[in-house]
Amino acid sequence: MAATGTRTFQNFIGGEWVDAASGATFESTSPATGEPIGTFPLSGPEDVDRAVEAAKAAYEEWRLVPAPARGEILYRFGALVREHKDELALLMSREMGKVLAEAGGDVQEAIDMSFYMAGEGRRLFGQTTPSELRNKFNMSVRMPIGVIGVITPWNFPIAIPSWKIAPALVCGNTVVFKPATDTPALGERFVELLVEAGVPAGVVNVVHGGGGAVGERLVQHPDVPVITLTGSRETGVAVMRSAADNLKHVHLELGGKNAVIVLDDADLDLAADGIIWSAFGTSGQRCTAASRVIVHRKVYGELQSRLVAAAEKLRLGPGWEADTDVGPVINDRALEKIHSYTGIGRDEGATLLTGGEVARGDGLERGFFYRPTIFGDVEPGMRVAQEEIFGPTTALIPVQDTDEAIRVANGVRFGLSSSIFTRDVNTAFRAMRDLVTGITYVNAGTIGAEVHLPFGGMKETGNGHREAGQAALDVFTEWKSIYVDYSGKLQRAQIDNAE
Ligand code: NAD
Repeated sequence: MAATGTRTFQNFIGGEWVDAASGATFESTSPATGEPIGTFPLSGPEDVDRAVEAAKAAYEEWRLVPAPARGEILYRFGALVREHKDELALLMSREMGKVLAEAGGDVQEAIDMSFYMAGEGRRLFGQTTPSELRNKFNMSVRMPIGVIGVITPWNFPIAIPSWKIAPALVCGNTVVFKPATDTPALGERFVELLVEAGVPAGVVNVVHGGGGAVGERLVQHPDVPVITLTGSRETGVAVMRSAADNLKHVHLELGGKNAVIVLDDADLDLAADGIIWSAFGTSGQRCTAASRVIVHRKVYGELQSRLVAAAEKLRLGPGWEADTDVGPVINDRALEKIHSYTGIGRDEGATLLTGGEVARGDGLERGFFYRPTIFGDVEPGMRVAQEEIFGPTTALIPVQDTDEAIRVANGVRFGLSSSIFTRDVNTAFRAMRDLVTGITYVNAGTIGAEVHLPFGGMKETGNGHREAGQAALDVFTEWKSIYVDYSGKLQRAQIDNAE
């Protein structure tokens, strides 16, 4: 059972809790107060090798367990996560910083995903097709692949592992999981609950440690045919490069620079609520956060004043306190990076409308708090309108019309989420067609994905795969086409049936 304080935790390899081979450790602390959460193994390549060996051995039996029985374990896991929802949400608020309601939402996604993928145990549909020859039967089936290397970020520390591990398991693969070093306690707790749900030894292994020592070894290990990574664009590029030598399957879910478009016929109250929630929820540390707001000039002044007033009302504090709206950012490096973008925006000539500083007072100095920040008069090409800041900073960009709004929205390298506020159904359908993002919301902010739809981005947000929904199954299975000839004679496709 994961306790907090100074408890020492271990890796989980081949069904046993073990220290890193080197004995080295690292600490996890709360970004809100600096309080210690726990001590974790700082693992190295030799720990990864042991975990992969265990996962590879377990695969030979796990792949033969009927998929409905694998799904049963995920049902039990989903039920256990639901039972422990409050405890997990509180731990998340302490270890990662998000406010309790959002932490509960993160846990709920894991519950939903586990139940959804448990149901896949009785589906995992393939196809049957006619044959072009007589007395021959054709079908395609999904096959498991082997050991999946799961590398996750800290911003959705329960949801994202579930998006990867639940489909990986129901499809018959085994897993070596490397949680982010900012949220090891949550990664650990996730695995403890899987074990309690009845996952056999070696089927899921957890190795704590850094992206360099643990992550890279996992990516390069010859017995790990699939890597699924959610993280920054830079990490995605490094992982894809280093996986190339073994021609691994690489599934990447990377950064975003998501825009909300507000047209002159929009419901401005609704738009302002959606923008505040999307820009400052989770302190802007969501891949789908609204870090650009593209506004029709006719309503620009009005929307700007509403947003600034709403942002200034947000109360900063530890996520577990009932009146907190915005929690801390993850660590001192993030705080520095976010603040550096305030300087960049000013130097580029954007107008700082509110925020733009590290928050102090009321005990906030003990953590990493940044004031919700809004830049006005932003030009689409400015760095604050192009680069992922991953903090509570958003940029207001004025435009003349719908054409310009869509052009500006698409004018970034990323393509994750987009949103449009308009009452005109024709404009809404045009935006659904023309916005080049994996997710588009109409009359809602940029966040709020549901687990039964594909999740992921176009352009440099990823490499063409999707998490969640049926689409996730394509990451964790290979298609096999099977031809059964019951004619009792040699039949040659494209030859014996040719005119
Ligand atoms: P990060 O890239 O720093 O780290 C992600 C994970 O990769 C961590 O576990 C890290 O230890 C590991 N890692 C780092 N370097 C590695 C390497 N060379 N080889 C193997 N593993 C390595 O990202 P982060 O700061 O934890 O998360 C924030 C980023 O994640 C943002 O860019 C955000 O947009 C993105 N994100 C994307 C999605 C999505 O679904 N598209 C969802 C959440 C977060």
